[in-house]
Amino acid sequence: MHEIRFINEIFAILKEKLTKEKDVEQVTVNVRLSPFSHVGVESLQGSFKELIKGESFRKVSLKILPLEILLECKSCKRSILINKRIFVCPFCQSADINIQMDKEFFVESMEVECKRKG
Ligand SMILES: [Zn+2]
Repeated sequence: MHEIRFINEIFAILKEKLTKEKDVEQVTVNVRLSPFSHVGVESLQGSFKELIKGESFRKVSLKILPLEILLECKSCKRSILINKRIFVCPFCQSADINIQMDKEFFVESMEVECKRKG
């Protein structure tokens, strides 16, 4: 249940942000999810929709973007940023590669639209 941890992270930021803002119309949360994460885009989106029902904020939409991670090839010594699952070097097809696995998820930005007065 990795996605619960991610969603709690989103909720914590939402709570902090939305208590300061009044008359919030619509919120879009942009997050980055690693293509190597155990959590899939659909399961994250689905759990988010379920869990937000228990929260006080409304009209929050989640935008899941791929997280770019660094692939370093030990054979040809080249490196590249990837945003999908690959298991060999795109340059030389070597499987002797190092993929940055420590970064799995983060909240990139939040767009808050407020009701206009008048
Ligand atoms: Zn290579």
